[in-house]
Amino acid sequence: MNENQPNITIIGAGVSGLVAAVTLQNAGYKSTIYDANAFVGGRVTSDVANGLIMDHGFQVLLDAYPALEEFLDIEALKLCKFVPGSMIFKDRKIHRLGDPRRDSSFLWSTIIAGVGSLKDKWLVFSLSRKLKLKSLQDIFSSPETTTKTYLENYGFSTKMISSFFMPFYAGIFLETELATSSRMFEFVFKMFTEGNATIPAVGIKAIPEQLAAQLPADSLKLKQKVNSVVGNEVTLENGDTVKSDFTIITTPAGDLVPNLPKENMLWHQVTVLYFETDHTGFDEAIIGLIANEDVLINNFHFLQDVFDNHRNVVSVSVIKKHTLNDQKLTERVIKELREETGIVATDLIKLYHINKALPQLESINYCMTASETQLTENVFLAGDHLSNGSLNAAMLNGKAAAQAVISKIESGVLL
Ligand SMILES: Cc1cc2nc3c(=O)[nH]c(=O)nc-3n(C[C@H](O)[C@H](O)[C@H](O)COP(=O)(O)OP(=O)(O)OC[C@H]3O[C@@H](n4cnc5c(N)ncnc54)[C@H](O)[C@@H]3O)c2cc1C
Repeated sequence: MNENQPNITIIGAGVSGLVAAVTLQNAGYKSTIYDANAFVGGRVTSDVANGLIMDHGFQVLLDAYPALEEFLDIEALKLCKFVPGSMIFKDRKIHRLGDPRRDSSFLWSTIIAGVGSLKDKWLVFSLSRKLKLKSLQDIFSSPETTTKTYLENYGFSTKMISSFFMPFYAGIFLETELATSSRMFEFVFKMFTEGNATIPAVGIKAIPEQLAAQLPADSLKLKQKVNSVVGNEVTLENGDTVKSDFTIITTPAGDLVPNLPKENMLWHQVTVLYFETDHTGFDEAIIGLIANEDVLINNFHFLQDVFDNHRNVVSVSVIKKHTLNDQKLTERVIKELREETGIVATDLIKLYHINKALPQLESINYCMTASETQLTENVFLAGDHLSNGSLNAAMLNGKAAAQAVISKIESGVLL
């Protein structure tokens, strides 16, 4: 560790804050992370008990994300890979649609799938070729439109958009209008083309836990909510104040820094329900989609298809807005599953409402540069909400803020 240690405080032990701390540590600087929660990971967490693995919201690590290798031991995460396709339930028929170049078992089922014309399927192929060649820099400097307009302009039919792109990308963007920036669509599509959607063998929370394990235990102050950051003073909810030469805030800063305009950030939400089921699954890790505008269910998958030796459990995501209470929602989801897919869900195990799942951003960028993260002389910003709602952006912005602090220290501000 560096001899002249400044006090560095990080607010938020989500993926962004943890990566910031690891980056600082790798450069020889200690930091202290404060988080309001009793656990690390923020939005990336799971309940693991009694042989059940229930992530708080269905989320996947795209193993093509460029940020991963620097911070994660991918081998140790023992990633379970989803096949590159999906099972689409439409008008009580099942269509298995996927990328035959990466998994030849999708070839015939994709050709015959009644989810768009042959031209649509050719366009998917040409789009994946195009985006494979398009650099991230080009993607994130392209003019932005909505994903829906982008798909229409690319020539996809209404049927293909409503039967495939709408349910698939609604499940990723957590919104049903496909209003998300076309840059995000191109980025995610490219990541799907170049890698797999994965989940660590013990649930998504293995990601932040692996990051936290790289840090000294006493650097993590959990159940410690921060109320404000003023100059070099951080005030906790319990009234304590902490002297901080440099502070990295990984949450919307307007909530903590007086005099900043309140950002009034909007978020996309999702509800996830886990059910016992007698259904033995699809025998492959694959996402199920229901292509029917009138149903609440967006996507589902079986945990026994993803995790080794897991009992039969189906996880269902609801993204559409509704006014049902939990009991009515549960009944509705059970009914829809049975009617649309034939899957019988029995007992509800757990229901999670995630109200702040993904930041709703009008314009997105790939990540912040180190200098862009600086808010004031000694306050720096990180978090996915500054760029785009992804683990990749959360990591890169955490790294950028830490690098900005390091260069500030090393340019002699304190020493
Ligand atoms: C349901 C769901 C699905 C998703 N799907 C995907 C996906 O498939 N692929 C993907 O790449 N990404 C996905 N994401 C997004 C990904 O989880 C986020 O981009 C990432 O976790 C953001 O990390 P973060 O550190 O920026 O923010 P957060 O995880 O929100 O961390 C911020 C932390 O700050 C703490 N905090 C807030 N205020 C205070 C305070 N005043 N004092 C102290 N602590 C405070 C919070 O408790 C939290 O721990 C999904 C997210 C959700 C919720």
